[in-house]
Amino acid sequence: MSRAITKDDIAGQDKPPWNYQPSIPIEGVPVFVWPPRPVAAIKYLLSRAYLFSVVIPFGLFALITWAYLQPAITRCATFEFSWIAQMYLRNLMLFVLIVGGLHLYFFAFKRQGKQLKFSGQTLGRDDRKYFTRDQVRDNVFWSCVSGVTLWTAYEVFFMWSYANGLLPFYLDWREHPVWFVLILFAIPFWDSVHFYFIHRLLHWKPLYRVAHAVHHRNVSTGPWSGFSMHPLEHLIYLSNVLIHILFASHPIHIFFHLQWNAIGAGMSHTGYESLTVRGKPLIYLSPFHHQLHHRLYNCNYGNSLVPMDKLFGSDHDGTAEAWSAIRNGRRAKVAAV
Ligand SMILES: [Zn+2]
Ligand SMILES: [Zn+2]
Repeated sequence: MSRAITKDDIAGQDKPPWNYQPSIPIEGVPVFVWPPRPVAAIKYLLSRAYLFSVVIPFGLFALITWAYLQPAITRCATFEFSWIAQMYLRNLMLFVLIVGGLHLYFFAFKRQGKQLKFSGQTLGRDDRKYFTRDQVRDNVFWSCVSGVTLWTAYEVFFMWSYANGLLPFYLDWREHPVWFVLILFAIPFWDSVHFYFIHRLLHWKPLYRVAHAVHHRNVSTGPWSGFSMHPLEHLIYLSNVLIHILFASHPIHIFFHLQWNAIGAGMSHTGYESLTVRGKPLIYLSPFHHQLHHRLYNCNYGNSLVPMDKLFGSDHDGTAEAWSAIRNGRRAKVAAV
C-alpha cells in the first residue's frame, strides 16, 4: 500500500548536492564476502587502494619510526620524561607533516581544485560550534592535544611492556617474515570490525553528547577532521591496538597500527577520493561511504573493508533506496517497542 512521503524519507537528501560522487551503489571490498571471491580478494589486497595506499606507505612510516625515530627499547624500561617526550614530539611531527601537508595541498594551496572532492562546501569559519569559531583550528586542537597524546600513551604502554618482558610474545621478523607481513595486511581489517562496534557505541546518546559530537561537528571534512575527537573517543577508538597483547607482534606492528589509526584517519577525511597526479588518481584517500556517515549520521558506522554495516542493516550504498531501507528498518524497530 502506498503512503504519503514523510520528512523521514527525504532526510539527508535536502542537503547541498555533492560536488563529486563516485558511481553508486558503493562497491564493498571483496575480501570478506559470501560466496568467497578469492581472485577479486587477492586483486584488491594488491591494488592501488590497499597495497599502495595503506600497506606500503604505513609500513614504511612504521619501519622508519622503528629504525631511526624510536628511543632505544632498553631506555623504556622505566617511565621517564625524556623518552616519552621524544615519542610524543616524533608523533606530533609525523602527524603535522602528513596531515598538515595534505591540508596545505588541498585546502590552502588548492592544488587539486575540486577534482574528486565530494562536498562542495568549504570548511567552517566564524561558526560558534567550533573551538575559536574556526573548523581547522578546532580540529588541530583536538587532534594534537588529545589525539597525539593518547596515541603516544598507547605506544608508551607497549614499549614499556616490551622493555620489561611483560608481553607474552615478541615476533622476530627474521624468523617469521611471512607472518610479519601478513599481520600488516590484516591490521586494517581488524580495525574495521572494532571500529564498527565502538562507533555504534559512540552513537549511544549519552556517549554521543559527551564525546562523539566533537567529531561530528565536521559535516564537511578536511584532513584535520579525521583525528579530531574527544579524549574519551580517542581512548576507545585507539583501543584496537590492544589486540597485540594476544598475538605475537613486533614494535613495527604497533607503530603501523597506531599511525594507521591516527594519520590514516586524516587521510580518510580529506574529503577527496584520491590524490591525483596529472589528473590521474595516485593515492586513494577518502571513502565516500564515511562521507555519507558525516552527512547522515545514522548509517555507515563501519568502513568498506569488512561489510559490518551490511551485516547489521545500517549500510548506505549511496542510493535513495538504501536511505529509505534504513529509515524503514528504524521505524519498524520503534514500532515493535
Ligand atoms: Zn569521521
Ligand atoms: Zn559517528
